[in-house]
Amino acid sequence: MIRFQHVFKSYGRGKNILADINFEIAGGDFIFVSGPSGAGKSTLLKLIGGLEAPSRGSIYLKEQRVDQLAARARPYLRRAVGVILQDTHLLYDRSAINNVLLPLEVQGVERSVALKRARAAMEKVGLAGKEGFTPIEMSGGEQQRLAIARAIVNRPAIVIADEPTANLDAASAKRIMDVFLDFNRVGVTTLIASHDRALMAQYARRTLLIEEGRFSDFAGVAL
Ligand code: ADP
Repeated sequence: MIRFQHVFKSYGRGKNILADINFEIAGGDFIFVSGPSGAGKSTLLKLIGGLEAPSRGSIYLKEQRVDQLAARARPYLRRAVGVILQDTHLLYDRSAINNVLLPLEVQGVERSVALKRARAAMEKVGLAGKEGFTPIEMSGGEQQRLAIARAIVNRPAIVIADEPTANLDAASAKRIMDVFLDFNRVGVTTLIASHDRALMAQYARRTLLIEEGRFSDFAGVAL
């Protein structure tokens, strides 16, 4: 499903953030990406989501090499991978449902179909009834779930989330994790970057750890 082969990444002329990274993730896996702040977790997720290109090496999604995709082929990647970045990039002057509708509008999906899918996405993340709220009127956890709804409205096979529980209390964090586990249960391949080892310990899943430029792959949680 996802394969990294000898992937290197540096920004500009800087040193390698990631060096010779090799791993393979099967369809339907649930994986944590762990390591201290600045280690390169976001960079790894952005490479998977096609938001950054590797400096060297190859990246495959569903057997298709994606690191060399031409700009016009990128929308394919955008539909295949649901991306939830640390900065959720919600539009604060739009209602919640209009935020979720955005990716469908960009694709020109017919309005009634789009509305049905946006409502279903909001329901899946536990936000039914909040369609008319603006993000400002929602709690941090709700905003995070809104960003998740927008990321999954295209029913992507892969979901990647960067520190989705940062700055949330334990109950809201659990709710977010439950949303991801629900998607994963129906087959969505899920990668979650976190530096919260206590949170990851509760779920005990395979963990890709980046630390001081070193990369390791643990079957269980890395503590
Ligand atoms: P993490 O998600 O683990 O906190 P990041 O992947 O965000 O780590 O960052 C890894 C390193 O790469 C950091 O030193 C950061 O400053 C640097 N970095 C990230 N994005 C960029 C960028 N667009 N340009 C230059 N340096 C960057």
